[in-house]
Amino acid sequence: MAMGHGTVSAEECPFCGRVERGEYDQWDAHNVAFIPLRPVTPGHFLVVSRAHVDSALASAEATGLAFAFAVRMARLVRLEHVNFITSAGEHATQTVRHLHVHVVPRSEGDGLPLPWTGQER
Ligand SMILES: [Zn+2]
Repeated sequence: MAMGHGTVSAEECPFCGRVERGEYDQWDAHNVAFIPLRPVTPGHFLVVSRAHVDSALASAEATGLAFAFAVRMARLVRLEHVNFITSAGEHATQTVRHLHVHVVPRSEGDGLPLPWTGQER
């Protein structure tokens, strides 16, 4: 599968570095999963594409594969209340320029400020 979004070295991209060093807990042919540095709720994990893809906007195919893997992992650990979140672009709060999906388990009263509708501008 050709992603065609240029070559980015592991030093330039922290997620390419993790993939290259094998620093992940779960994986399939297209994605890896690991616990982020600062989980926002217990069980929060990240799904990261093996290929360097800038964001969800850069490849519908890679994004679809990442979400499919995220759902399979969520079902595997029997999540019933969960946010699947990806951000594209810095003004959409994307911090690492490499496609990733946050899988955030939710529970009543966990205090995470989602949904964000109704917040003042
Ligand atoms: Zn990367």
